Amino acid sequence: MHYHIILTKECNLNCNYCGGGSDSPPKEIQYRICDLKSFLLRDSAPVIEFYGGEPLLRIDTMKKIIDAIPAHFVIQTNGLLLDKIEPEYLKKFHSMLVSLDGTKEVTDRERGTGVYDRIMQNVNLIRRRGFKGDLVARMTVAQGTDIYDNVRHLLGTGLFDHIHWQLNFEMFWEAWENTEPGLEDWINSYNSGISSLVNWWVSEMESEGRVHGIVPFIGVMKSLLSGAGSRLWCGSGIDFFTIMPDGRISACPVSVDFDFSVIGSIFENTPHSLCDKAAVGEPCVSCDIFHICGGRCLFVNRSQELLRENGYALICTTVKHLVRELQGAMPWVQALIENGILSMSDFEYPEINNGCEIIP
Ligand code: SF4
Ligand code: SF4
Repeated sequence: MHYHIILTKECNLNCNYCGGGSDSPPKEIQYRICDLKSFLLRDSAPVIEFYGGEPLLRIDTMKKIIDAIPAHFVIQTNGLLLDKIEPEYLKKFHSMLVSLDGTKEVTDRERGTGVYDRIMQNVNLIRRRGFKGDLVARMTVAQGTDIYDNVRHLLGTGLFDHIHWQLNFEMFWEAWENTEPGLEDWINSYNSGISSLVNWWVSEMESEGRVHGIVPFIGVMKSLLSGAGSRLWCGSGIDFFTIMPDGRISACPVSVDFDFSVIGSIFENTPHSLCDKAAVGEPCVSCDIFHICGGRCLFVNRSQELLRENGYALICTTVKHLVRELQGAMPWVQALIENGILSMSDFEYPEINNGCEIIP
């Protein structure tokens, strides 16, 4: 199973969508690494995903955990300190998820001046230093973002294996409070950008025989092609848990301060005893695309009383549009597979990295 380890709640950025993350104490790890090890070794194949705050602010603790615990390693980072990881540790990572939002203009507006350039320098550097794993650009999409232009931009850098995005939570809280004018119009333009992106994605398969690593498209297309469906893609509360600095365990890394999310601790629980202690409920379980969407986000689902129906329904228009567009593209994709130009394995993602929630 997968475990986010919050190395610190401190961050060296103050991004618009997050504002530095959770402030609740403790901010720093209180448990001993041997306690973490005893807990994780009861899982036969743990995947550790370093998380924060900004995890690379505690690079020494990260290295101690890597040295002490046999596992696969992943990190979610803002990328500013990637140059501090020595080559011998870089090589131990299966995947790295780097947060940026698209072009320099968009990223610097949301995260701060100079952030985009620093990330690009560091991403180039870790490749030169021998990181060969999966490099994922992880976008937060704020209201006003042109999804088509920004995803195409990141793919066009040639630096990232995959691009993933999530819609900014805040815009839906604001929809509930009715304080964000123009949100519905932007959702319409976002949906139309998704249509253009799906068309381009399929046209590239036809002309180049290549499946670009647009994570939400790959994941949903895999579900449609196989008919297998999926539970909550991020795995929160199912097979992905977050170990907080005091050793308590949250179903989701973002909702650590919410009672519904706190489901145990490394001192009192075994990994498998945590599964399904927190799960999505209505309106998702009765939704006609629940088997594909999986409920999108446990945190939003369990906070829906805060969102009122308006905000929730707005989110779902984006999910339903995405699924509809990919269903429309499916006959072309199936034909390319039948003709041997593509294979089902082109749509296998994620391998071990659930840090991408698939449904934006
Ligand atoms: S589309 Fe909306 S209601 Fe349906 S499963 Fe997804 S999040 Fe839930
Ligand atoms: S999608 Fe929602 S439940 Fe899943 S990790 Fe993200 S915030 Fe948590």
